[in-house]
Amino acid sequence: MDAAASAAGFDYLIVGAGFAGSVLAERRASQAGRRVLVVDRRPHIGGNAYDRYDDAGILVHPYGPHIFHTNSADIFDYLSRFTAWRPYEHRVLASVDGQLLPIPINLDTINRLYGLRLTSFEVEEFIGRVAERVEPVRTSEDVVVARVGRELYNKFFRGYTRKQWGLEPRELDASVTARVPTRTNRDPRYFTDRFQAMPLHGYTRMFERMLSHPNIKLMLNTDYREVQELVPWKRMVSTGPVDAFFGYRHGRLPYRSIRFEHSTLAQERYQEVGTVNYPNDQAYTRITEFKHLTGQAHRATSIVHEYPCADGDPYYPIPRPANAALYRLYEADAEAARHVTFVGRLATYRYYNMDQVVAQALAAFRRLEPGEATAPEPGRPA
Ligand code: FAD
Ligand code: UDP
Repeated sequence: MDAAASAAGFDYLIVGAGFAGSVLAERRASQAGRRVLVVDRRPHIGGNAYDRYDDAGILVHPYGPHIFHTNSADIFDYLSRFTAWRPYEHRVLASVDGQLLPIPINLDTINRLYGLRLTSFEVEEFIGRVAERVEPVRTSEDVVVARVGRELYNKFFRGYTRKQWGLEPRELDASVTARVPTRTNRDPRYFTDRFQAMPLHGYTRMFERMLSHPNIKLMLNTDYREVQELVPWKRMVSTGPVDAFFGYRHGRLPYRSIRFEHSTLAQERYQEVGTVNYPNDQAYTRITEFKHLTGQAHRATSIVHEYPCADGDPYYPIPRPANAALYRLYEADAEAARHVTFVGRLATYRYYNMDQVVAQALAAFRRLEPGEATAPEPGRPA
């Protein structure tokens, strides 16, 4: 950091260079002319959405597959200022009973699983017969058995969820498995959002453009606690885990971690679609082949296996009532810390996708200093 900048001080100290921190830094610096210091303890920007070229020259996501999708034109337009896009609709197959079947469960899943030739209308009747009446729907088990019955729940959801979370589905909020819909048509896409695309040159390039502003200084490999007393600043934005920020004073918030096992294979294609889920048979939950996501042409291919685990970097808040109650204690502390704003997946303990974090950060920007804030204007990168 140059001496002049550090002597003059910063309007904002932003902790974390992921989506939450980068969006707020960009908005504060370019829209409101504020001087911003962004620190991240990792050696790179982008947070968990960081991507990089591996040793074979294949673009991979070190923290697991990140597919961008949103229904919000505002969010898509905002990010489009920093990247061009490659249209991409994610497809996932689940390995069940020796077959690779479409997930979300759709007409083809049921027909192929049971060797039937039902029409959409008939499959609706079929699902109506096997679905259980559950009143009220409270847990991740309830939501699936109420939609498709216990057999399909056991084949596609129970094992995956136990692996992913280390809990029974009945111990998790309904919102977790409710992320995956059920269809009676043949739509094989994982998401149905209006906008589905990957940053054409990768996420990291997009973050570089967001953060390359003369009012933004960036310090990597730096924990905010190393600089918060050394550098003058007026407000802080914290995007790391909220329990760590408050020294775990109410106890640790549970997070789920993942061990990512990356490999490169000397073959052009490994699997038919971007991701294959393994609900039942393996210690890993899914395998993703990155070239499907990025469209990259290469003689080799890189894949990642995901092994969920309890220890390691916190990746997923765990949605269940006891954790929500504990988070509320931290939320009250966060509201009382008037010089700090908490934004992002770990700072607000919410199982948010990237677009939801961008929306949360843009909303926080509008709230921070309402007098000067303006709504995002649509735009494209030059
Ligand atoms: P993060 O990206 O976690 O950024 C927080 C940053 O703060 C980190 O870089 C961290 O190093 C830094 N930090 C923390 N503490 C400190 C400290 N003390 N000092 C300095 N720096 C600190 N979303 C989708 O929309 N589509 C997907 O397909 C998708 N797939 C996912 C797959 C996996 C395996 C995971 C884990 C998440 C996935 N997500 C996906 C969610 C997505 O990763 C998040 O919504 C998004 O990256 C959250 O951004 P954030 O800025 O809140 O947090
Ligand atoms: N899920 C499942 N089987 C699947 C896919 C998902 O049981 O084949 C459940 C599981 O509990 C998972 C949740 O649905 O954690 C949400 O799935 P999603 O693909 O959205 O998870 P993410 O990509 O966020 O890890």
